Amino acid sequence: MALLADRESRLLIDGKLVTGSAGTFPTINPATEEVLGVAADADATDMGRAIEAARRAFDDTDWSTNTELRVRCIRQLRDALREHAEELREITIAEVGAPRMLTSGAQLEGPIDDLSFCADTAENYEWKTDLGHATPQGIPTRRTLAREAVGVVGAITPWNFPHQINLAKVGPALAAGNTLVLKPAPDTPWCAAAVGQIIAEHTDFPPGVINIVTSNDHAVGALLSKDARVDMVSFTGSTATGRAVMADAAATIKKVFLELGGKSAFLVLDDADLAGACSMSAFTASMHAGQGCAITTRLVVPRARYDEAVAAAAATMASIKPGDPNDNTTVCGPVISERQRDRIQGYLDLAVEEGGTFACGGGRPADRDRGFFIEPTVIAGLDNSARVAREEIFGPVLTVIAHDGDDDAVRIANDSPYGLSGTVFSGDDERAARVADRLRVGTVNVNGGVWYAADAPFGGYKQSGIGREMGLAGFEEYTEIKVIATLAN
Ligand code: NAD
Repeated sequence: MALLADRESRLLIDGKLVTGSAGTFPTINPATEEVLGVAADADATDMGRAIEAARRAFDDTDWSTNTELRVRCIRQLRDALREHAEELREITIAEVGAPRMLTSGAQLEGPIDDLSFCADTAENYEWKTDLGHATPQGIPTRRTLAREAVGVVGAITPWNFPHQINLAKVGPALAAGNTLVLKPAPDTPWCAAAVGQIIAEHTDFPPGVINIVTSNDHAVGALLSKDARVDMVSFTGSTATGRAVMADAAATIKKVFLELGGKSAFLVLDDADLAGACSMSAFTASMHAGQGCAITTRLVVPRARYDEAVAAAAATMASIKPGDPNDNTTVCGPVISERQRDRIQGYLDLAVEEGGTFACGGGRPADRDRGFFIEPTVIAGLDNSARVAREEIFGPVLTVIAHDGDDDAVRIANDSPYGLSGTVFSGDDERAARVADRLRVGTVNVNGGVWYAADAPFGGYKQSGIGREMGLAGFEEYTEIKVIATLAN
């Protein structure tokens, strides 16, 4: 693959790397504001060709039934990505602004490794299960339950963890026998295009099975939700866009899979190590400049110790300086774009209007005049009804809220339109587990446990989404169920 400076970025359509019909668009380094280079800009015609290629590969080849071929191609992709991990790492740091330290985990190497789970699942999966004999309406019948691929999947993804989110759709969708068109976010086209190049040059995926279409125009991606030739749309992004995807998909009743926003709560019970828990909460909210859908951005603490909790969180956040993502010690890099930085700044202004105060941070760091940086910020003095406690800010911003005991803490955590994730800290594991059981969210961290793993389903309740990504549940999202009833003699 080319060095960063010489990168060319093309679309992958029907097995070939091709230029975009709308020309190119720039991709920008959020840490420096420099233009890194250009990406291929697809138009509606390119998207139509990609959908057609995926349709043909599904309908006219044995891809969906040839499990051996699929497993081999996915393992080949995993190995090829591993071989090119260093180039992918440089692209990811430069284009996403992702701290280098995160690329050994969820930003890059983790999701590459997770492809093993997809291949293994397909290899060992019981595609047909015997439902046994029965005599419905008096007729002796042998029943078989079959799982099959859904068909053509349109995958639309955001910029914050591009490899994790792209591969968490590509891996299970292809392993289950679907064909796919991936439309990545316009902010991170190179991350996806580099994977497209690796697929074209180093794997045996048949033409059309996977297509990668970068575009600067959201409307080009929206065609995936609208086109009748697409059987399922798998979307990760904001709840507002998820709503639009669902509405567009309604016309053709396609299967809709949504991973959306969050405003997750970190509950500190009154018997917990308060300083330790608040410090961990502040650290988590600063990682990757807070650009993670499942990050806990509401710190909910005992009212009697509110000031102490604010001080502990602020001490940690004040020690985390937004920095160069290339530096091995950086935890908090830039946010992705000027638009996102201004949006976050708008929320910080709103916090003041709502009567909140900053225990640390509150704006752009004084020592960084280039790059889209925001100081890790602790907002104090507001309750859960404030807009900054209810809306997703998607920056390194933590709002500290007081609770009056376990029931109140649970009430506050669940008083949200979202239901993605949560954390509970207590000196008593059983008490923490009882609280965890009452949270209306898809994943819970209890006293520091980690839920992120290839075999653990991830997703949201309420307006955080529909369906689960990863794990067996994530694989089965990309399948249809068929019951075959045979007359038994
Ligand atoms: P976004 O919703 O603005 O964009 C996501 C993708 O949708 C992009 O590829 C964009 O081009 C595309 N898009 C925009 N309008 C569209 C339309 N009308 N039809 C089809 N596609 C359209 O989100 P973003 O700003 O890129 O990412 C941040 C959001 O993603 C946050 O809300 C975050 O919580 C969410 N997110 C959720 C998860 C999760 O798993 N729950 C993971 C990561 C990010």
